[in-house]
Amino acid sequence: MRLADRMGRFGASPTMAAKQAAADLRARGVSIVDLSVGEPDFPTPEHIVRAGQDALQRGETHYSSAAGLPVLREALARYLSRLAGVEVHAERIVVTCGGKSALLYVTLALVGEGDEVIVPTPCWVSFPAQIRLASGTPVLVPGSPGDGFRPRAADLVAAMTERTRLVIVNSPANPTGALMPDDQWTVLLDACRQRGVTLLSDETYNELVHGDGPPPTVLRHAGGSQNGVVVVNSFSKTWAMTGWRVGYACAPEPLARALVQLQSQDTTHPATFVQHAAVAALEGPRAPIEKMRSAYAERLRLMLEELRTVPGFTGAPPDGTFYLFPEVRAAMQRKQCADDRDFALRLLQEAHVSVVAGSAFAGPGCVRLSYAASSDDLREAMGRIRGWLAAD
Ligand code: GLU
Repeated sequence: MRLADRMGRFGASPTMAAKQAAADLRARGVSIVDLSVGEPDFPTPEHIVRAGQDALQRGETHYSSAAGLPVLREALARYLSRLAGVEVHAERIVVTCGGKSALLYVTLALVGEGDEVIVPTPCWVSFPAQIRLASGTPVLVPGSPGDGFRPRAADLVAAMTERTRLVIVNSPANPTGALMPDDQWTVLLDACRQRGVTLLSDETYNELVHGDGPPPTVLRHAGGSQNGVVVVNSFSKTWAMTGWRVGYACAPEPLARALVQLQSQDTTHPATFVQHAAVAALEGPRAPIEKMRSAYAERLRLMLEELRTVPGFTGAPPDGTFYLFPEVRAAMQRKQCADDRDFALRLLQEAHVSVVAGSAFAGPGCVRLSYAASSDDLREAMGRIRGWLAAD
């Protein structure tokens, strides 16, 4: 069968492929420690599960609005208004099947043949793939490892041309954990406004910033002038709801209408009872979030300690997320690995630890470790890696 040309422009998601490879080996009886896919190992908080069950019992099992349930859009508007410190209107919000659909719809709605999209790297695997799917050209702007890969506005602005339609910033970033510094947001926002370029802020991990302080959002920097700014976020990480597939975009109204147009021809909307559970997530107690946050903080401490004892792994501590993105070139050399993909593959096959190769994120010479796993698993994984590196 001959597939359409567009299928040759991108591959299947490497993060999902890494999770599958680990699951396949496990199914064959191999004891794998999986630090590959980024997925909270905590159960979805009880009050959210109950709200989903109650909605099912009430018969919330039919179509609803393609933009998302009004009650959820209102709840999201209140949540974002609190974070932004300015009013965010519910008309701007479109509820989608995970943040991934929202990102794809924004890209499809704004980017066409020959259009350029600027992405600081290392970046999440799906940004370049979705840009290519939309027939656009990803313009990758590498960050500096010495600076923890924090994006520099001047570098992003320097990459702009008259074909630039969109800049995508993910802060804190998957896979590096790097935050875009506040002063850099201001410079980037000004440059985007001057050139009529849309700024898309993927805030999936904004509730997982290390230390105190409110979750960061570009809306706080944009203030009252939100035109040209799009936020995408997800319930997956903050509320441990990966499998529920619910996220959203907050976009200027003409773009929000375009996203609804796309969604109405695609999934229609996320499951209605799932959206009721999402309302409970936003309006319920924050204690479960705080509990997960302190567990991640503890695991980060553990991982940074462990990493100091792994020869050939180096890197700056991340600002947020539950990922570490160490540079492993010295370790690759020691094990005579051709590249980081080979390194990740051999780690899986020989040490039975699953990680994602840095090249998947346009970060060659590195690997991504997700520490959304129990402390015991993390200690076991690091012990296996140490043992594997020490063996001939
Ligand atoms: N965003 C997560 C990750 O990078 C989930 C998998 C995916 O959708 O890529 O592992």
